[in-house]
Amino acid sequence: MSDSATTLGDLFDRSCHLLKPVSETHQLDAEILITELGHLQKHHLILEKNRIIPAEITEQITRAVKRRINGEPIAYITGKRWFYKHQFCVTPAVLIPRPETELLVERVLKRHKKHPIESLLDMCTGSGCIGISIASEIPSLSVILSDISTDALAIASQNSHTILKDKIRLIQSDLYENISEKFDIITVNPPYLTQNDMENREIPVQYEPEMALDGGKNGLLLIGEILQNASRFLNKDGILIMEIGAGQVPEIKPLIPSDLKMVEIIKDYAHIERHLLFCSISS
Ligand code: GLN
Repeated sequence: MSDSATTLGDLFDRSCHLLKPVSETHQLDAEILITELGHLQKHHLILEKNRIIPAEITEQITRAVKRRINGEPIAYITGKRWFYKHQFCVTPAVLIPRPETELLVERVLKRHKKHPIESLLDMCTGSGCIGISIASEIPSLSVILSDISTDALAIASQNSHTILKDKIRLIQSDLYENISEKFDIITVNPPYLTQNDMENREIPVQYEPEMALDGGKNGLLLIGEILQNASRFLNKDGILIMEIGAGQVPEIKPLIPSDLKMVEIIKDYAHIERHLLFCSISS
């Protein structure tokens, strides 16, 4: 693919052909890699098949296709992923935002309509996708993004600059360790994969940071800690909304402390119990 006069049509066809054996979404993969790296729009692929692509760009796209063939997620190759209403910068220092996590954002915004929220902590923030998406919808909201990883916080900071023009505080913290305030809402997508999930995870997930996925032997290590201390960091009537793994609800129930009440289970697009909403019942 490195000959100097490659047309867009040829490049697309050849990329699809190379990706077909390894990706169920080979056409979409080729489309994203070519449009992102070639600085083109989707309609160019249909209307400008004879457009000549410079050798340098063709080589760049060929290298990207090879990375994809090795199993690397598209988002890490392009460095970008759309989540809710914004495009987020992503690197292997952060988890790639999942579509089902958008449901958590929507649930918080729905609550805000009935019970306006003024402050939010987004723990284990990673790319910052949850906290930043919520902040962009509620301009008056005071938001803190926290993560144990300084590399992740650097990405969250970058996303906060581009998407929100800066109005977010970032704190490096192992869960609540460096948090000293109380909030109306805590959002968290903690690492919740079990040891077995970790050992058997698919190739694209192997590119993601273990720290953001590994929830210990039964996947509940961090979930337990988060629940145990949540009410100390919640205002009166504050809520904690947390993403969990498939089938974890029965194991989570015994971990709920007496000052916290599980008030809602939200299912995702695959009807999996994905988000849990807890209310602080301390006075
Ligand atoms: N949903 C992710 C996965 O299945 C896991 C995310 C997490 O551990 N928070 O790969």
